[in-house]
Amino acid sequence: MDLLNTLMDKGLRREVPSREEALAVLATSDDDLLDVVAAAGRVRRHWFGRRVKLNYLVNLKSGLCPEDCSYCSQRLGSTAGILKYTWLKPDEASKAAAAGLAGGAKRVCLVASGRGPTDRDVDRVSDTIRTIKEQNEGVEVCACLGLLSDGQAERLREAGADAYNHNLNTSEGTYADITTTHTYADRVDTVHKAHAAGLSACSGLIAGMGESDEDLVDVVFSLRALDPDSVPVNFLIPVEGTPLAKEWNLTPQRCLRILAMVRFVCPDVEVRIAGGREVHLRTMQPLALHLANSIFLGDYLTTEGQAGKADLEMIADAGFEVEGTDQVTLPEHRVSAGGGGCGSHEGAGGCGSQEGAGGVCGSVPAATAAAEPRTDLVAVRRRGAGTDLAPNA
Ligand code: SF4
Repeated sequence: MDLLNTLMDKGLRREVPSREEALAVLATSDDDLLDVVAAAGRVRRHWFGRRVKLNYLVNLKSGLCPEDCSYCSQRLGSTAGILKYTWLKPDEASKAAAAGLAGGAKRVCLVASGRGPTDRDVDRVSDTIRTIKEQNEGVEVCACLGLLSDGQAERLREAGADAYNHNLNTSEGTYADITTTHTYADRVDTVHKAHAAGLSACSGLIAGMGESDEDLVDVVFSLRALDPDSVPVNFLIPVEGTPLAKEWNLTPQRCLRILAMVRFVCPDVEVRIAGGREVHLRTMQPLALHLANSIFLGDYLTTEGQAGKADLEMIADAGFEVEGTDQVTLPEHRVSAGGGGCGSHEGAGGCGSQEGAGGVCGSVPAATAAAEPRTDLVAVRRRGAGTDLAPNA
């Protein structure tokens, strides 16, 4: 297919595709799906080989958020039965992080619900970062605390943070449909602040909120313009008790096309499959490793993932290898430019990785039948941080 040869060549040269080409990837038929994966997979292997970076989420503070992100189970007015707790102490967070690192993760993503941190919160998280770094040599730490005020990114950097995650989530044109308590411009501003402080910027999206193909292409091109080192791709987990609980719009094939499109537009960036991997890709997860070079190990912020052991087996069975702490994630030209890569929130989520997700317009992939609700695959997290039970790692 000429389209795929063109996109593959552009990806190998780090050349930006046209919007029309990106839209055409999303419109490919199921008959062409393996060709799409093969072409984007070649770009992935060119920049990242067969390595899979594992990241581990620690939810430092869960629920009770005053913001109204429609996709999020921690939002204002959410009736989802999630764990609710205030700040973990540094030792508690470090213990949770250690479980993920022992399971093979090289990056820990420290996430907290809320609009953004107070200066006191930044002090707390700084203590936690220092504790984790002292107790776990070589670990990368990404913070995901919401909107940042002036000077906060610099303080996190001084405390040892390597990266900061803040997702754009959806297109500028539909942002107000999913959240009213802050703006798209607020989010862009925080990504700029992270960059300016010398933190590796991590910013991604949530698919499946009812957005159109054009919206998806818009947000991915906006992300490319922001130039983050990592792009988490969340697939909405429609959690009961959130406004988007009925938004079951994704099929495994649709998810693969979205990941391929992101890889073509952001060829040399760490593309991470974030929340919703198990719920929406299901048995097609191994194919997605040909597109993304990074995943979360174990559980998400408020929902459970598959067992960490199953993640490791899947990676090995698919012919990939877990990236070690002695291996550099990003291609040489990005490392020398000063970057690192980061994470996700929850399923979809405000801060970085996903949690749930919200509803916007309403397009259905042209070539694939409508998605069936798989509420049986959505389980609220009941173990790990904030509980007395061992974490999944
Ligand atoms: S995504 Fe973040 S800011 Fe939005 S409601 Fe959830 S925790 Fe709050």
